[in-house]
Amino acid sequence: MKITVFGIGYVGLVQAAVLASVGHDVMCVDIDENKIANLKKGIIPIYEPGLTPLVEETYQNGQLHFTTDAQRGVDHGTIQFIAVGTPPDEDGSADLKYVLAVAETIAQHMSNEKIIIDKSTVPVGTADKVSAKVKQVLNARNIELDFDVVSNPEFLKEGAAVSDCMKPDRIIIGTENERSRAMMHELYAPFNRNHDRMIFMDVRSAELTKYAANCMLATKISFMNEMSNLAELLGADIEAVRHGIGSDSRIGYQFIYPGCGYGGSCFPKDVQALIRTANGIDYQPALLEAVESVNYRQKQKLFTHLTNHFNGELAGKTIAVWGLSFKPQTDDMREASSIVLMQALWQAGANVQAYDPEAMEECQRIFGNRKDLALVGTKESALKSADALVVCTEWSQFRAPDFELIANSLSHKVIVDGRNLYDPQLLKERGFAYYAIGRGDSV
Ligand code: NAD
Repeated sequence: MKITVFGIGYVGLVQAAVLASVGHDVMCVDIDENKIANLKKGIIPIYEPGLTPLVEETYQNGQLHFTTDAQRGVDHGTIQFIAVGTPPDEDGSADLKYVLAVAETIAQHMSNEKIIIDKSTVPVGTADKVSAKVKQVLNARNIELDFDVVSNPEFLKEGAAVSDCMKPDRIIIGTENERSRAMMHELYAPFNRNHDRMIFMDVRSAELTKYAANCMLATKISFMNEMSNLAELLGADIEAVRHGIGSDSRIGYQFIYPGCGYGGSCFPKDVQALIRTANGIDYQPALLEAVESVNYRQKQKLFTHLTNHFNGELAGKTIAVWGLSFKPQTDDMREASSIVLMQALWQAGANVQAYDPEAMEECQRIFGNRKDLALVGTKESALKSADALVVCTEWSQFRAPDFELIANSLSHKVIVDGRNLYDPQLLKERGFAYYAIGRGDSV
């Protein structure tokens, strides 16, 4: 099938390459000329396991194309994906200007029937707005063309995006149009062989499904963080509690890790956006508000541990930071806990020596050259002459470090572990001051 994808970010590029890999003919359109020029040269703008060979292969065999030419993009596909960003507006609601700009572009250039698929995460009612925009532009062009707007939210996880798209848990399709339904069946048939993963519903339910899923996951994290704070104050160990509750099959072990708060491009903005949607219809989403405020508080914890340990005297100290990305297997630092920590440290006059396996370039791009930030090439060099170590991201290479080397490199034997990677008892025996999340008294 001939497909066009507008917006070649984490979602658009992965989706396009995966669709191309099964034989679809996919045109990628982005307004970022640099990104498109690089992609044509084989330079992939993001780190995502398995993505580079997939893009290279599908581009070389002619299944995947890149352009900044909107007319070429609109001409190419009967199916037009919108996969642009929906960042938070000033009040936290989803900003639809990129989505509506693509809708306008499609309407300006289309000369035959199109199925417009909303892949971006958008508030309930957005398909109606996209439809209205397309109609308005077609009317202004004085032309009548058939089109349908389908909601098909994306559930990939950064760090596992390619495999998630290859083997999705579910494919949510919001449409009440029979022809669109048939087209979507054909489009996703290659990913639907093992068992039926396609769930059809009305457009508004599909739009809400995406927010409900992300808000549920964020709720699990904030719930565990709330429990971890209670555990800390009550002298209990949240890791024991986690094992205890996870054994109940109604709860399960998935996604109940306490930590230093959720980040990324989705949970923070989607929780906020659903709160704003609720406010807009005079409903107070008490649970969602609590999820957000618990997360805000949790992100301060790493700094609080440090400042308590050093009696507020952080000026002139150097803190080693392991992990900058918001989670492992990605270079994405959007809303990462590491950013909250580093900004608080800089505010307090401390210096940061940081290492991340993939996000160093991204960190450099965000913060530029500042004298209180040293981005170093290995996790060991981050420790050199630092006063304390903070683990922000649970990359596997941080899980079993050489504690002797850490002890010898740091000027104070202090570890703040935002991901509960280490054994408190073991670290106590080795003479460390060890602060984790919800693990009883600090040792
Ligand atoms: P992104 O910021 O990585 O990429 C967006 C891309 O759209 C950029 O390359 C930008 O240049 C391009 N763009 C902007 N305006 C354009 C236009 N008019 N025409 C063509 N291209 C344009 O965004 P992302 O992380 O891929 O997210 C996209 C959407 O998918 C968001 O709504 C997000 O909430 C949702 N989503 C993201 C994830 C994730 O893990 N990143 C997962 C599921 C859903």
